[in-house]
Amino acid sequence: MTIQIPKQQKKEMLSWLLEGLPNEACGLLAGVRQDNAIAVKKFYGMHNVDESSTHFSMDAREQFAVMKEIRENGYMLLANVHSHPDTKAEPSEEDKRLAYDSGIIYLICSFMEKEPVVKAYRIIDRKRVSKVSIQYE
Ligand SMILES: [Zn+2]
Repeated sequence: MTIQIPKQQKKEMLSWLLEGLPNEACGLLAGVRQDNAIAVKKFYGMHNVDESSTHFSMDAREQFAVMKEIRENGYMLLANVHSHPDTKAEPSEEDKRLAYDSGIIYLICSFMEKEPVVKAYRIIDRKRVSKVSIQYE
């Protein structure tokens, strides 16, 4: 499985996550699914109401408004994005526990190295993790 992210959306996503430092930052990616292609069309930066460097929670009202906009654009929610300011781009135990949607992709961006590292996963039944490749175009 591959998620396709246009350069523009990648740029918007990384700058939003960078702005959130030293806290974890989060967002949503929306777009279309056709056969095996998962194509991102839009990035939504979301506020981390936890304001923490090790946790994030999205604001329910903001999430509701964004989901409405996604539907109105004819897109679907493809991925949940968040940053790890000081740890690897791998789902933490908490990330797995909170991965309530097996149908979407979880993107994690680590800022622990000099350059940001972004990885994508599917998390099934809140425990089984499989990698998803990312194609930037
Ligand atoms: Zn995490």
